[in-house]
Amino acid sequence: MTEDKLPTRAENFAEWYNQLVLKAELADYAPVRGCMVVRPYGWALWENMTAALDRRFKATGHVNAAFPLLIPMSFFEKEKAHVEGFSPELAVVTIGGGEKLEEPLVVRPTSETIIGTMYSKWIKSYRDLPMLINQWGSVVRWEMRTKLFLRTLEFYWQEGHTAHATHDEGQEETLRMLDVYTDFAVEDGAIPVVKGRKSQAEKFAGADNSYSIEAMMGDTKALQAGTSHNLGQNFARAFDIKYLDKNNLLQHVWTTSWGLSTRFVGAVIMTHGDDQGLVLPPKLAPYQIVIIPIYKNDTEKALVMPVVSQVEQELNSFRLKRDNREEVTPGFKFNDWEMRGVPLRIEIGPKDVQKGSLAFARRDISGKAGKSFVKHDQLEAQVAETLQSIQASMFERALAFRRSHTFEPMDYNELKAVLENGWAFSWWCGDPECETKVKEETKATTRCIPLEQEPGKGTCIVCGKPATERVIFGKAY
Ligand SMILES: [Zn+2]
Repeated sequence: MTEDKLPTRAENFAEWYNQLVLKAELADYAPVRGCMVVRPYGWALWENMTAALDRRFKATGHVNAAFPLLIPMSFFEKEKAHVEGFSPELAVVTIGGGEKLEEPLVVRPTSETIIGTMYSKWIKSYRDLPMLINQWGSVVRWEMRTKLFLRTLEFYWQEGHTAHATHDEGQEETLRMLDVYTDFAVEDGAIPVVKGRKSQAEKFAGADNSYSIEAMMGDTKALQAGTSHNLGQNFARAFDIKYLDKNNLLQHVWTTSWGLSTRFVGAVIMTHGDDQGLVLPPKLAPYQIVIIPIYKNDTEKALVMPVVSQVEQELNSFRLKRDNREEVTPGFKFNDWEMRGVPLRIEIGPKDVQKGSLAFARRDISGKAGKSFVKHDQLEAQVAETLQSIQASMFERALAFRRSHTFEPMDYNELKAVLENGWAFSWWCGDPECETKVKEETKATTRCIPLEQEPGKGTCIVCGKPATERVIFGKAY
């Protein structure tokens, strides 16, 4: 508990983020460089995300299972692009029980290889398809530059792995899960996202095509918030996953994989946070409401506390925190819960009790404009309505911010200029050389080729050759 001021976002966005994550007690640095400890408040936020996603996975026919953390090194060597992409990031176990292992074991960076191996055993006939399995767990990727939630050696996530009879079914699944992520980000995270296809240079190692949802953070940088990969038959061939079709012919399956991780916690912090701290969307907030009793003496306390208890009872269908601390002032509590991003604060003081009303303060609208008084007998309905309104206005605000920082530059010089202050939505010929040039000269990468764009023709913003698709360029986390 400290009263140190955060730097403002304008002063130093990166420091604002780092300090806020620590101060709000979302996560802490672990003894091993680049690892994080997710603290209870951060884990509660992640748990609400996992519940919202898991519900959607099950509604689309998926089931959960658990695969091992350790994967034989030889499995990685079976798929060439996959091993090339991942080998710099692998953590490898070479000793077990005091003895050197015959074959080194990789701490999973992702599970296509182990799940592919099991699928080759489980899938025999078209009747076994589609196979739709998701796993919740953590993975390890040896990153050099780390940042809490955004890039850590170990992170938590879910990875879906599916196998299908045809190419089209695999593609359908890939896009279905991209839609699931989009719906989650928009509806629960209040985060507007652009869904699109990754360039060949930016795709997942081993995929035919990768798709992502991209969100704009409060400093206008992009964050890839979820990915869905069409793996074609690459892993099916490497791991010999075959089935007998209806004509009794042996065929390779078509596979997909898709994942969303604790990065999304970072996305929520950086999309919605302000100079006071976190602003959490009601659907994901660990506490949707905080109740703060206000009294100066025992007489007032005796008046206020029974109403506080009553209100707590009446609102038991919401995630609620009652702050009973005696050692700090109500003003301190206001600031503290504001910093922690609780969407709605309810203040109950002696005057409110006498008038049969309660004071509401919305986290998303600061100062007087966010305050209102509510009749106690309309409390529950008013809380529900206010939380809905907060959720909706957070989304609208984030969308307006993204729109005002997304540009359509006229030429290459203008492209370079606008990338200092947001995203560019530009025609691109598809040539990796043009992509590389932008990356080298501006540090911006192609984020995705939005799936929803007007068909048409233009000229590449970099080389001037004909182009049929527009891409989003942006600096990214
Ligand atoms: Zn070009």
